[in-house]
Parts: sequence; structure tokens; C-alpha cells
Amino acid sequence: MNSHLLENIVADKDVFIPQPPTPTNRVTSLSHFRLITDENGTAWITFDMLGSAANVWNETTLREFDLCLDAISRDSTVKALVIRSGKEKIFIAGADLKAVRKAPVRKVETLIEMGQKVFNHLASLPLPKIALIHGACVGGGLELTLACDARIASDSDSTRLGLPETQIGLVPAWGGSTRLPRLLGLPTALSLIVSGKQLKPKAAKRLGLVDQIAPREHLEDAARQMLTKGLPERPPHLSHAFWRLPGIRHGLAHYVRGQVMAKTRGLYQAPLRAIEVATAASVLPLNKALDIERHAILDLALTPETEHLIDLFFRHEEASKKPYPRGVALPVHDVAVIGAGVMGSGIAHWIASRNNHVLMQDISMESLAAGLSRVQGLLQEGIKRHAITRRDMRDTLDRLTPEHTRVPLTRYHMVIEAATEDMALKKKIFADLAKRTGPDTILATNTSALSVNELACSLPNPERVIGLHFFNPVHRMPLVEVIITDHTSDDVIATAVSFVQKLGKTPIVVKDSPGFVVNRILMPYLMEAVRLHESGISAEVIDEAMLEFGMPMGPMRLLDEIGLDVAVHVGNTLCAAFPERLVKSSLLEHMVAQGKLGKKSGEGFYKHQKGKHPATPKGLNHSMVEHVQHRLSLLLSNEAARCSQEGLTKDDRDIDLAMILGTGYPAFRGGPLTWLHDFGLDNAMTELRMLSVSTPTPNAFEPARL
Ligand code: NAD
Repeated sequence: MNSHLLENIVADKDVFIPQPPTPTNRVTSLSHFRLITDENGTAWITFDMLGSAANVWNETTLREFDLCLDAISRDSTVKALVIRSGKEKIFIAGADLKAVRKAPVRKVETLIEMGQKVFNHLASLPLPKIALIHGACVGGGLELTLACDARIASDSDSTRLGLPETQIGLVPAWGGSTRLPRLLGLPTALSLIVSGKQLKPKAAKRLGLVDQIAPREHLEDAARQMLTKGLPERPPHLSHAFWRLPGIRHGLAHYVRGQVMAKTRGLYQAPLRAIEVATAASVLPLNKALDIERHAILDLALTPETEHLIDLFFRHEEASKKPYPRGVALPVHDVAVIGAGVMGSGIAHWIASRNNHVLMQDISMESLAAGLSRVQGLLQEGIKRHAITRRDMRDTLDRLTPEHTRVPLTRYHMVIEAATEDMALKKKIFADLAKRTGPDTILATNTSALSVNELACSLPNPERVIGLHFFNPVHRMPLVEVIITDHTSDDVIATAVSFVQKLGKTPIVVKDSPGFVVNRILMPYLMEAVRLHESGISAEVIDEAMLEFGMPMGPMRLLDEIGLDVAVHVGNTLCAAFPERLVKSSLLEHMVAQGKLGKKSGEGFYKHQKGKHPATPKGLNHSMVEHVQHRLSLLLSNEAARCSQEGLTKDDRDIDLAMILGTGYPAFRGGPLTWLHDFGLDNAMTELRMLSVSTPTPNAFEPARL
């Protein structure tokens, strides 16, 4: 009689619904788990979280999983355990962050303790344990598999393995910081934990994180075969022992810390703490190691930085996945891109790489050829990085048709115009597109600063006109501002949002207004930086101040990267729109007239020589750095507050997210509006007023209504 398996733990009838045993298999279903024991004595636990697309760990799922382990440990007929997921694309997505977010410390503590206890329970079961990984296996998902003896991953594109905790201000604390160094050696473990990188199956296999790769449909067979043949032998790795030597271990930790400091200037606590924890945990007895994991996560979990990073994680997920709340999103597969310049070719490459047919059109044969060769260059770079295969490259190029004549575009669902930034030219192109496309084709423009509304109103059907503002370089920048006018129809917005999401980018819907959100907030900040430079502060000091604030690049260097001519152009549009607070920079205009355009001309605020990086400035005047940082950070947030006041986005959090994704505004500060709240609104008002009276007018310090 087999039904004894779970009888003695059926205390809670609400949680636990036993199913009748079948002649060969014993089946038990809980709310989120199914446990089947087959005729060979292998127990199969399937995690399939009820009412959720993902499997995540919270108190309930951990408790249920523990019940399954209890049942297995009490059944002497069970000889092996295999754990798998019932979800289409997710193995286990980690801890349920909703349960941790803004939770009282006691609750977080309980969850961490429970996770450690349950995974220890799993690790201590005296039988072979295999995890079958298909789909995302991250955070607490991967930590579960580290408590198993072997891991078999599917070869699917959706399978990813990693410990991304440091990205949201935490450290792996369910045994990840302890077990990963033991499995892979300290250097590899530190690199994975600190970067939060998610590995594809092949890379995971190369590192030894998974033992075998199999097609999804053969995972179960692979587990059976592994159990028959015996688990893979893992002789103690000599180099692992080497990295455990105290001097070597600490030297490595010091080196990795140096790398993190160079990149983050110590502004992010979690990666630094993770280095300490994993280095110590790699040699401590398990219970001591888990103690330090737990202390570290509790120190970090309730800091404002971590709270901001977790909020941002949710907002980002929502923006990249949630459909637009109104209208019907129609599928888009065939896209025409007008203009094969820097942006047109970048957009065409990205769209064609994601399985769409793209026609790339330019009036100039040379530009078209140059655009096509840029696409080829990007694909070749992808091959070098092992991101794509030669076959992917061939398929992408097959889907991309270069064209320089006025062919009919009736079969295209969407046209994205990325021609030269000139309103008269764009109006001409759009009038022509209105004739060449079908009545439902969406007409999108990639303009950086021109009025989408003016463009739309020049056409008979303004409801199908929208802005899709991709950022440069398209393949790296995750944000697309979706610019809507009063005429844009809900169906067009819904379709554009869903298309951008399908491209793997994050859409932020913004009302048409000069500079939209990102350039609107960035330009006054850049112009104020130029003004400070004119007043005698060196470019190095200005840049250093904002690097210390957490920006990935200082404003003067950013101007050189963007091109001073482009900055003048966008700046002029904004100065014309907001003459009461913005004034053209004569220095910028002068430099452009002298041919100093920034990086592309070899000189701007810096001299640019190939292969030479400017040295970090020494002996900085710290009070000057603070003065610059104070002015620029307040001014930037003040403009963000104006955007919020004007209702440019539906939700203020979108302004924060757009600035983080579009400019690299420091994520741990939560975005310019969140920073303003943390600074204190009253404080900010007072400071802005003081800066405004001490700065020549017009200036952008006059406080927004906060
Ligand atoms: P670019 O000068 O590199 O390319 C413009 C291309 O448009 C040229 O190849 C030109 O031959 C082509 N063109 C001109 N008239 C045309 C016509 N009638 N039909 C077809 N093609 C035509 O410019 P870019 O940097 O790629 O910018 C394109 C658009 O994207 C602009 O509106 C710009 O403001 C915007 N944008 C640029 C950036 C950036 O960083 N470069 C970022 C975001 C948005």
C-alpha cells in the first residue's frame, strides 16, 4: 500500500489535497506542488505555482516544498529525487519580492531563515537529487538547484541561470553565496554574484554550473539515464583548494573589490558586501557561512537604496510587459524604416534581428550602402561575443531589404521615419508616406526634438502618427519613448507599446512636448554644466562631481560624445520652447563654429586621441566638486518636477525610469523625482530659490511647483 507517503503530514487540509494513488505511481498534490513517486522509487516534485505565471518562493511555497521533502524523507522506498517546473518559460524566478518589499524586518528575517532551512533540508536528504532546469532559474531558483547534486538544463532560449541579487541591492542568502564558490571556485562565483549575470545553458555548462544540457522534451529521460548511470563524479578541484588559501582568497577579494570600486565608486553597497560574504562563506562551515549570508541580507534589505532598486525592478517589469490599458494591439511583423543613417540602420538591425521583415530605405545610395555595412558590422560583433550564430546573421540579413526607390508600402504594418532632423523634410516624407502606405499603417517618427503633433496635423489621418524615440546606440539602449499627440488613436498607442515590448525594449508613453522627457530634462542640465565651465570651472571637475553623484559619464564628456553640433540643435529647440528659463550657449555655438564638435572631430571639451583615455584628475578641490554636484543634481530634478507637473507621463515613476534607462541616472537613487523626495521637498525649494537668485536670469533654478 503506497498511500502512507504523506498520510502522517496531512494536518492542514486547506493546503494539502492528497490524490488517490495509481497502480504504479503515488501522486500527491498540494496547492503549488505535485509529488509523484514512480515505480523505480524516484520522487518527482513539480513546482507549478497556482494563479501565477511564475514560480516564486514565499512562506507558503517554501512550506509546501518542505512538506514534500518531509514526505520523501519518511518514505524508505524513495531512492532519488528530481525537481522540475510546471511552467512554460520559468523554472523558478527567485524570491517573491512583493513579500519582501516594504515588509517589516521580522518578516524578511523569517523568510530568509525559512529558505535556508528548507534548502538545507533538501541538501541533507540522503539520496541523489537532480534539478531539471527549463526557463528562468534565477536567485532563489538557482540556490535551490545548488542544494541538489546535479543540474540538467534544457537547451531552450528561455533557459537562463544566475544570481541577480546584487542588482537589486541584496546578496544571495539562501546558500547561494556559500554553495556557488564550493561548486565553481571562488573567482567564477564572485564574478557571477557581483555581475548578477544570467547565463545561457551552454555558458553554464562550460563553467560547470550545469552538468548536462538536453532538449526540453528529453529532460526527464536525461534524469532517468543519469540516475541509472550514477551522478557525475566531481573530484575535488585543485584550483578550488588554491583559492581557499587565506592569502590568495583575500588577494582575490581585494582585486574584485577594486574592480567594483572603479565601476561604482562604492555607491552600491550590495556587490561589495557580496564579495565579503562569498569570500568568507567559501571556507566557513555551512552553518556559520549561512549566518553571515543572513546578517548581510538583513543589513541591506531595508536600506533606501535597496528599496529604490526593488521598486525600480517592479516598475521596469511592468513597463516592459504590461499592455497599454486602452485600445487593441495589432501584430506588427513588416516594418519599413526611412533613412539608413546612424539611427535608421540601428533600428533596422534591431527589428530584423527580432524576426521581423524590414525594408530600409534611403534616398542616397551611399548612405544605404553605409547603413547596410553598419548592420553587418553589428551582426559580426554579435558573433564575436557569441550572442548570435552565423546562421542568425544570415537569417537577419535575409529579412532586411535595402531599397532606394519609392516602392509601395501597403503591406507594411508600420513605417519608422529616421531621416535627417528637419521639419520641412519630415513633412514631405510623411505626405509621401500617407500616399504610399495602407490606410492602417502606423506612421512613426524617430525625431529627437521636433513636434510630433505638428507633423501629425500636416496629414489627413493624424490618428495614425506616433513618435518612437529610440536612443543611440539602438542595440545598447533599452528605452524607447513612445510619443503621443491628442490625435493618436488608442489602437495605435497599444500597438506601438506592444511592438516595442516585443523588441525587448522598454516603452515609456510620453505626451508630445519639446524634448519629450529625456532630452527635456537632460538639456538644461548639460547647458548649466557648460555655463559652469564658462564661469571658470574645469571640465574635469564638473565631470568628477557628477561621476561621484553616480552618473555613468560626466556632462562635459557626454556633450563630446553626443556631438556639440547636435547639442546646439536640440538646445535651440528647447530654448525656443522655454525662453523664460533657457538661454542659448554662446560657448557651444563658438566651439561648433571652430569645428570643435566633440569626439567625432577629435576635439570638444576634451582632446580625443584614438586609444587614449584622459587621466583621472588629481588633487580636486572637494568643495568645488560638491558645489557643482549640488547645482546640477538639483537643477536636473527641478526639470523632472516640471515634467511631472505638466503630466507628461501617466505616472511619475515613468519619468524616473526613463531617466535611469535613457541617461544612466543612478538607479540606487531611484530617479530624479525620488531623489527630490529623499532630499526633502521643502529643502529643495529653499535651495533652488537661493540658487535662482544667485544666477543670472533666465535660469532653470526657479523651483517647479513641488
Ligand atoms: P543621419 O544623418 O545619420 O541619417 C539620416 C539619413 O536620412 C541619411 O542617410 C539621409 O540620406 C537620409 N535621408 C534624408 N532625406 C531622406 C528622404 N527623403 N528619404 C529617405 N532618407 C532620407 O541621422 P541620424 O542620426 O540617424 O538621425 C535620424 C533621426 O533620428 C533624426 O530625426 C534624429 O533627430 C533622430 N535621432 C538621432 C539620434 C542620434 O543620436 N543620432 C538619437 C535619437 C534620435
